[in-house]
Amino acid sequence: MQNIQNYINGEFVAPISGKYIDNINPAIGEVYSLIPDSGAEDVQMAVDAAKKAFPAWSATPAEKRSEILLRISHLINEKLDTLALAETTDNGKPLWLSKSLDIPRAAQNFSFYGTAILHEFDEAHHTGHNALNYTYRSPIGLAGCISPWNLPLYLFSWKIAPALAAGCCVVAKPSEITPMTAYLLSEICIEAGLPAGVLNIVHGTGPGVGSHIVSHKDIPAISFTGGTKTGAEIARVAAPMFKKLSLELGGKNPNIIFADCDFEAMMRGTMQSSFTNQGEICLCGSRIFVERPIYDKFKDEFIARTKKMKVSDPLLEDTRMGAIVSEQHYNKILSYIQLAKEEGGKILTGGKAVHPEGRCQNGFFIEPTIIEGLDANCRTNQEEIFGPVVTVMPFDTDEEALALANSTPYGLSATIWTQNLNRAHHIGQQVQSGIIWINCWLLRDLRTPFGGMKQSGVGREGGFEAIKFFTETKNVCVKL
Ligand code: NDP
Repeated sequence: MQNIQNYINGEFVAPISGKYIDNINPAIGEVYSLIPDSGAEDVQMAVDAAKKAFPAWSATPAEKRSEILLRISHLINEKLDTLALAETTDNGKPLWLSKSLDIPRAAQNFSFYGTAILHEFDEAHHTGHNALNYTYRSPIGLAGCISPWNLPLYLFSWKIAPALAAGCCVVAKPSEITPMTAYLLSEICIEAGLPAGVLNIVHGTGPGVGSHIVSHKDIPAISFTGGTKTGAEIARVAAPMFKKLSLELGGKNPNIIFADCDFEAMMRGTMQSSFTNQGEICLCGSRIFVERPIYDKFKDEFIARTKKMKVSDPLLEDTRMGAIVSEQHYNKILSYIQLAKEEGGKILTGGKAVHPEGRCQNGFFIEPTIIEGLDANCRTNQEEIFGPVVTVMPFDTDEEALALANSTPYGLSATIWTQNLNRAHHIGQQVQSGIIWINCWLLRDLRTPFGGMKQSGVGREGGFEAIKFFTETKNVCVKL
């Protein structure tokens, strides 16, 4: 059995406690590796290493930082097969998805930020009274990066890459549920020549490690992606310390379908936005609102296509949905399906656990599930389920669609399907979400601002926004 180790000061080290946590392969329901159960002392070691490395790393020319980040990107691509298999084993997602989405995107995160710092510029203003103002940005110091289990290396690197590019040194914690690719990333960092202490990865639980990163007095910036409840706890601790906070939190995203849409494109998009990655993507559209004239046609087609989806061993090429990430999350999703029934929902298809034959018979699999007949304000339609469960509801007017879309405390993303671009822009501007997709879903351009409104988050990641987050801005006024 492989023992994962912490990566501190450029070396692999065991947790000071000497304790480990079981790491489970959710597709077979068995322990396959052990993760350090680290604590405050391990975080302190990581902080000490990062502080020691910071003066030299922050002073390293952008060209040199870029070279190292591009080497990391190159090595991720080179090890695509190994990393993809590790991601699938840890998370349960289909191997083809790890190969085509998760790992390529992690490589892209490093190459994107590795090149972005070569194109960064600061503002300058000629002022009256013969003066010049210019903006000076310096790396903020140590950055704490904490990420979830749904897109493990993809989201971990989405934080680490801009922090390192900006010249910060990082203390990072991946989710305890999916730590393997973060561990493999530490091997890659050593191979790529990243100086010791620039990136430190401490494994363990949220309370054991994450909370100590958040409350550490020497870490002035925290970039967090995860649940809204955890985000609130992090804000409670970090706000009185006046830390910079970037919080990417949960969603309950609307998918608004108008009768004039391109039906086939919409159907393909809706299948993806509903069930990709077992519905475990914060951007999945879990509340589907359909204009009444095409409601029945949509429903029939949606049910027919969903019934054909193969839920099975993630290593099989034709598997469309793999395992749910953990037994605890599997039980949570099943309890929401039960709740939906109690709230009066009708299960149109799915709703049950799946037990594939062979090696996966004890894994955590759930059928893709469509539910109809629920009120927009019931718990099933208000709370994030984060699984392969969607609800469908008809609407009659644009105003009604908008009111339904905006009826939750969340505001991460929204998808709109219509050929009427006036309507698309009008609705798009009024839906309270940070990310709007019109006639597409998950079409990402890494230069664009990414993040949510309301309880879906604070701040934006992506493009130069992320680099700026990891810097301190100063204005210098010079009288000439
Ligand atoms: P959690 O909030 O449970 O955990 C996220 C990370 O925070 C994990 O590494 C976790 O550690 C850690 N953590 C837990 N408690 C604390 C604490 N008190 N202090 C510091 N760190 C802590 O989220 P999940 O892992 O369950 O991820 C699913 C959630 O993430 C969903 O709500 C989803 O919507 C959201 N998400 C949001 C995205 C966005 O961009 N807005 C993108 C992807 C997901 P550990 O797991 O080891 O306990």
